[in-house]
Amino acid sequence: MTSDDAAQPCPMPNAHRRLMDCHAQWHRLHEVYFDPHEFRLTMNSLVQNLRNVTWLLQKQKAQLVGFDEWYLRFQQSSGSNEIMRWIVKSRNRITKEADLELLSELQVVWHQDWLQRTIGTSSKYPPRMSIREITNDVMRRYRPPFGTMTVRRRWVDKALPAWELLDATSEAYTRLEELLAEGHSAAAVPMCDLEAHDRECVTSSLRASGTRPHCMVDAKDDLEAHFDLVEGVEIESTSLVIERDEELIAKSVERYGSRAEIPTSGPIDAVPGFMANARQLMETDGEHGTFVFLYRGDALIKMGGLLFYNQNSKILAFEKLASQVKAMNADGVLVIAESWFARPTKKEEELGTVFFPARDRLDRMEALTVYAATRDGKTAGQISLVTRDASGRAICAEPDDMDDAVVNTLAPILRIWAEMDSSTN
Ligand SMILES: [Zn+2]
Ligand SMILES: [Zn+2]
Repeated sequence: MTSDDAAQPCPMPNAHRRLMDCHAQWHRLHEVYFDPHEFRLTMNSLVQNLRNVTWLLQKQKAQLVGFDEWYLRFQQSSGSNEIMRWIVKSRNRITKEADLELLSELQVVWHQDWLQRTIGTSSKYPPRMSIREITNDVMRRYRPPFGTMTVRRRWVDKALPAWELLDATSEAYTRLEELLAEGHSAAAVPMCDLEAHDRECVTSSLRASGTRPHCMVDAKDDLEAHFDLVEGVEIESTSLVIERDEELIAKSVERYGSRAEIPTSGPIDAVPGFMANARQLMETDGEHGTFVFLYRGDALIKMGGLLFYNQNSKILAFEKLASQVKAMNADGVLVIAESWFARPTKKEEELGTVFFPARDRLDRMEALTVYAATRDGKTAGQISLVTRDASGRAICAEPDDMDDAVVNTLAPILRIWAEMDSSTN
C-alpha cells in the first residue's frame, strides 16, 4: 500500500500493526488446529494480542481525533458483548492465573429433516486425528439410517462453551477492525500507509462493516465434513457462489430486459420487485436457480446462488447459509427459488396437516417463489405458478401472496437468530 498515492500516514500505527498481527495469527491458529500443543500456544498469544490492540490505542489517545467519542461507543458496545468480555477475562487468566481450559470436542450432527436434528459430542477422538480419519470411523460405527451427518472438530474454552474458538477470535477481531476503521475515518485517513504482510489477505485496509472477513469464514470449511447417509457418499461443501457484482447485474439487464425497481428498504419490501425480475428470468431461460440475499437493516450485504443436488444437500446448503448469517451478523434474508406446489388434498384440508410433500405428489405444479424473513419476526412471500406451452416455454402466472412465508428452508436461519437472541440477552 506504500506505493499508493492516496495512502496517508497511519494515525495509530502501533494498534493498527498489532491488529494486522492478529489477522495473520488467526490464520496460524487455523493451520495448527489439529496440533493441541501449537494450538494452545497460538491461542494464548492471539488472545493477548487482541487485548493489546485497545491498550495501544489508549496509550496514544492524546493524539487521536475524536478519541473520547468513538472509543466510548466501542466500550459501551463491548460491555454488552460476551466475546469482548471473554477476551478481557481470558487475557487476565493467561497472564495472572493459568491457561485457558481448552477442550477439543468432536461434534456429530445428524439432520433427519429440516426441523429435526440431533447433536452429539464425543471426546474419544484425539485432537490429532484428521476429520477424514474420524468420519471414516464414525460412519463405520454409528451410521444412522437416513438424512445427513456432519462431523465437525471444535475447540472451545470452558468459560465460553457455546463458541468455537476460531469463531470467537474472528468475532473479536472484527469488532476491533471496526473500531480502528472508525478511528481512521475520524482522522480523515481512509487508507493508511502500513505495509501489507506476506499473507495476501493481511493488508492495512480496514472494513467498517462489522462482518467477518471472507478469508476467515471460508477457512473453516476444512474443519467439517458432511455425509449423505442414504447414498453413503460425502457431500461436497456447498457454498454461495456469486458476490454482488455490478457488471453481472448490467449483463443480466441486457439479457432479461429492464428490471423492476427494487425498493431499498430491506428484504420484506423487496419481495414483489424480486418476483417481477424472477418471472422475467424464468420466462427467458425456462429455469431459475436458487438465489439468496442477506441484509443488515436495509442494506444488502451479500448475494449468491445456492447449489445442491438433492433434498439432503439442500438442507446442508441452508444450514451453511445460516452459519453465514451468524458470521455476517445479517438480520434479513430473501430467497428466490423454483419449487413444487400442490394443493392440499381434501383429507389433508380436513385434518389441517400435510401427508405428502409437494415434490412427491403426482399432481404437483411448478412454481416460482420469493420469500423473505427478518430477525425481528417479519415475513413476506409470493408464489407464481408456472405452466409450459406446447413448445415447453415457461409462462409465469400473476403472483399470489403466500399464506405462510415461513417455509422449511428458513428453519436453520430462524434457529440461528433465536440462538443469537438468547446469547445477547
Ligand atoms: Zn493505519
Ligand atoms: Zn485473512
